[in-house]
Amino acid sequence: MRTEGAVGAPIQICPDLLIVALEGELDIRFPNPPTGTAIRRLPIPEWLRTRFRMPSSLARPKPAPTGPDHHPARNAAALRDTRRRIVEELLTFLPPAAVLHEAEELAPFECDGLPVYRRTPLLVVLPETVAEVQHILRLAAYHGIPVVARGAGTGLSGGALPLEDGMLLSLAKFNRILELDPERRVALVQPGVRNLAISEAANPHGLYYAPDPSSQIACSIGGNVAENSGGLHCLKYGLTVHNVLALKVVTQDGEQVEIGSAAPDSPGYDLLALMHGSEGMLGVIVEITVRLLPLPATAQVALGAFDDVEKGGRAVADIIASGIIPAGLEMMDRPAIEAAEAFAHCGYPTHAESILLCEVDGTPEEVASQLDAVEAVMRTAGASEVRVARDEDERFAFWKGRKSAFPAVGRISPDYYCIDGTIPRKNLGEVLRRMQQLSAEYRLRVANVFHAGDGNLHPLILFDASRPGELERTEEFGGRILELCVEVGGTITGEHGVGVEKLNQMCVQFPAHELAQFHAIKAAFDPRGLLNPGKAVPTLSRCAEFGALHVHAGNLPFPELERF
Ligand SMILES: Cc1cc2nc3c(=O)[nH]c(=O)nc-3n(C[C@H](O)[C@H](O)[C@H](O)COP(=O)(O)OP(=O)(O)OC[C@H]3O[C@@H](n4cnc5c(N)ncnc54)[C@H](O)[C@@H]3O)c2cc1C
Repeated sequence: MRTEGAVGAPIQICPDLLIVALEGELDIRFPNPPTGTAIRRLPIPEWLRTRFRMPSSLARPKPAPTGPDHHPARNAAALRDTRRRIVEELLTFLPPAAVLHEAEELAPFECDGLPVYRRTPLLVVLPETVAEVQHILRLAAYHGIPVVARGAGTGLSGGALPLEDGMLLSLAKFNRILELDPERRVALVQPGVRNLAISEAANPHGLYYAPDPSSQIACSIGGNVAENSGGLHCLKYGLTVHNVLALKVVTQDGEQVEIGSAAPDSPGYDLLALMHGSEGMLGVIVEITVRLLPLPATAQVALGAFDDVEKGGRAVADIIASGIIPAGLEMMDRPAIEAAEAFAHCGYPTHAESILLCEVDGTPEEVASQLDAVEAVMRTAGASEVRVARDEDERFAFWKGRKSAFPAVGRISPDYYCIDGTIPRKNLGEVLRRMQQLSAEYRLRVANVFHAGDGNLHPLILFDASRPGELERTEEFGGRILELCVEVGGTITGEHGVGVEKLNQMCVQFPAHELAQFHAIKAAFDPRGLLNPGKAVPTLSRCAEFGALHVHAGNLPFPELERF
């Protein structure tokens, strides 16, 4: 019997039994799989502690960090030393290519789709199996190292932004569709599978996966769950949360948890919904069961042009009020129309102040009657022109313009900043008008291209980061737009998450006691705050500093917190 080893590394006691030292505890397990669920968990006896190269201090629970904004400042030498030790231990069970720690290997991971924030991670790990993920999380827990999960890195709020003292856990190698069952209309996929790859695999069976973020050629399904992503088709078919049936998640201490099931309802708390939009803070998603839908028999799109943005906004509310649920209802304003037309040559009317793209799908009869109704509503709302795509090529061209609007805007400005907020549909016109006023106040142009049917705005603020002060002005302008969303009864995110970008606006959206509940949920899953700390939920101190703690009846919450 071998009784020495590193924490987290399994030790064979006899052919049928393994023990694994965790922090302060021993797991007794069956060896197949070697990192399978513990059958018994015991405190580590004093005599064994040293044999696991475990300093006795680590056998006592560590104090919890002060909150997710907390990042222990470690000096460069200490970080190098930590890196060296972790790399050594990782290489006992991972191949060298799966552990990146040289500066030039780390550089590609220093940001996600929000490159205004950049940090070099301590190291990057690229596991290939669930057992490896479990092992990595146990090691991280033992060393008290934060872990940031990363899918494809297309997130727009800095959710996958690394930590200088943390590991970046890339799920890129989890890229297999494990099972596709056309009869049950479900697919079991690994988290690194690209969103579009699921629909491509399902297509020969006449099926598809409905949520379709504009980034679907690149973004991963794991990232979609962690952000509860939306897309053009979500108005009719729901967000990611409505199209996922079950998850397999590895917790911060390396345990596997199954959440949800193929049944329409599961007993207990709805943890499946909780995991959606949890931004890598509650666990690492390692398997996903998605629902597949039959491809619609036919689809058609109408384009309405308006001579002012408020009329376009009114048409959106009127279409929904008429009882039609379009498969997609997207709006663009003039700067976005001009940029998209110049880039994609999609036939958009460049004289319009706004255009609305309304797609309907179903049987040919349903589509024909809904299109008539949509055209009538658009004209009543003041459309100067309504065009129905003449054929599939034109339908494709209309959507190509919309889907390429972001890169198109990138051609007309050195930098742009995409804001994501949601408002009640009835306020669309008013909010677009007030955004134009803010644009004048901040002397920064804005192009709007968004999921109008969901009230989900995506103002793109155009700026030049090389001009001193312009980035700061842009960020402030973005913050004002989000606060405007809250003012009219909306929310500060629709689909891109909070990440690091919207921490301050979370203080505007939620009162302190609600933020405290979020912290309690985080602590229940991750008591030591090691999973993606500093993201999504601001500390109360941060809100106090931002000056946005909700004050009720003159009672200042948390008076002990220092105000700035
Ligand atoms: C051009 C462009 C267009 C976009 N359009 C849309 C759109 O229409 N709709 C939309 O919703 N979004 C859109 N996005 C944003 C982005 O693509 C989505 O948020 C997407 O879901 C992120 O997926 P990802 O794999 O890139 O995740 P990442 O950016 O790698 O990570 C995002 C978050 O998820 C966490 N995470 C990732 N994988 C896991 C995992 N396996 N377990 C636990 N946590 C995990 C990370 O820690 C991070 O917090 C767009 C982005 C771009 C660049």
